[in-house]
Amino acid sequence: MIPYARQAVTQADIDAVVEVLRSEFLTQGPVVPRFEQAVASRTGSRHAVAVNSATSALHIACMAMGLKAGDVLWTVPNTFVASANCGRYCGAEVDFVDIDPVTWNLSVPALEEKLTLAERSGRLPKILVPVHFGGQPTEQQAIWELAKRYGFRVLEDASHSIGATRGGEPVGSCRWSDITVFSFHPVKIITTGEGGMALTNDDRLADAMQMLRTHGITRDPSRFTAVTRDSMPLPGGWYYEQQLLGFNYRLTEIHAALGISQLERLDANVGRRNELAERYHRAFAGMPLQLPAVQSMNRSAYHLYVVRLPEGTGQGRHRAIFDDLRKRDIHVNLHYQPVHLQPYYRLLGFGPGQFPQAETHGMTAITLPLFVGLSDAEQDRVVDAVTKTLGT
Ligand SMILES: *Cc1c(COP(=O)(O)O)cnc(C)c1O
Repeated sequence: MIPYARQAVTQADIDAVVEVLRSEFLTQGPVVPRFEQAVASRTGSRHAVAVNSATSALHIACMAMGLKAGDVLWTVPNTFVASANCGRYCGAEVDFVDIDPVTWNLSVPALEEKLTLAERSGRLPKILVPVHFGGQPTEQQAIWELAKRYGFRVLEDASHSIGATRGGEPVGSCRWSDITVFSFHPVKIITTGEGGMALTNDDRLADAMQMLRTHGITRDPSRFTAVTRDSMPLPGGWYYEQQLLGFNYRLTEIHAALGISQLERLDANVGRRNELAERYHRAFAGMPLQLPAVQSMNRSAYHLYVVRLPEGTGQGRHRAIFDDLRKRDIHVNLHYQPVHLQPYYRLLGFGPGQFPQAETHGMTAITLPLFVGLSDAEQDRVVDAVTKTLGT
């Protein structure tokens, strides 16, 4: 069986993890800051805050930007549920912006139109979460201009796109956003087992996220407020202050060691993923499939290789092709079932017909296997299976 995604773990990764296991600290030691430093310097962002998942990163990012009940967060329906759930964790209302039928990322014209309407009704979003679908960067510059014009914050969900660039600018630089989030789940570009990171150039947001990931506690004497307020001497070396209601979202040293080791192969991994994507493009040229379209200024990290059946293909046929490929031991998947059609979001009032581009995508998309360890021969088997299936 060929899965749609699989982690690549080397002996160097294993050695790095074992070294931590033999060391003084399993958590809250020197390795997490080293991992943060390494990701920040690669992406060019000022700060990096490592946490135990991208979901946690999205949550504390929203909290740091002050999202609360009564506010609105917008994202796309063509994403994993976590991009929307982070808004709900903060008690905010969630709404969606439809996707572009070619890039499958957030549609900037759809965003503009929705903003015009929202301004009229006084329901502008506080935070927008654009998602780098499949590893292709979103149109951040245009989104950022709209953010300045309408006064909302931008949280890039770059769970798919560490290692990608837009106009030569690495994803994660936060040049056109407030915060960018990466995921290190095993199916993603690099892994820590579970893990995530939030990047920002804003000192205050970084401080807030650092506290929120560890109970809202600070141990930095220059930040203590009770001591100052009561003009008391520093009580002692044990002293810390909880100033916010935070969580335990910390990443362990074990995970961070794996992350540092994996990060060393990031360029090589993204290179191999692009090579495999090119091979698919060539093999499928001329077939009745819509292929991923990477904008010319972008380099995709190719987290996913998604193809779409022609628009108007019935759901029965989509399902039959999907089942047939799985029967041929090609473990295809679907990215994504539109989030607004999940029962939880249906209960909040969403329903079919609201975001037609994302819904069409959900009815025609098929994710084919793409991962670093996929051999050319295995990929040829996938191509062969797809060719046969489409011919039936
Ligand atoms: C994987 C993923 C997440 C969640 O990542 P975790 O690290 O598993 O919490 C969020 N958003 C998108 C788009 C993802 O693909």
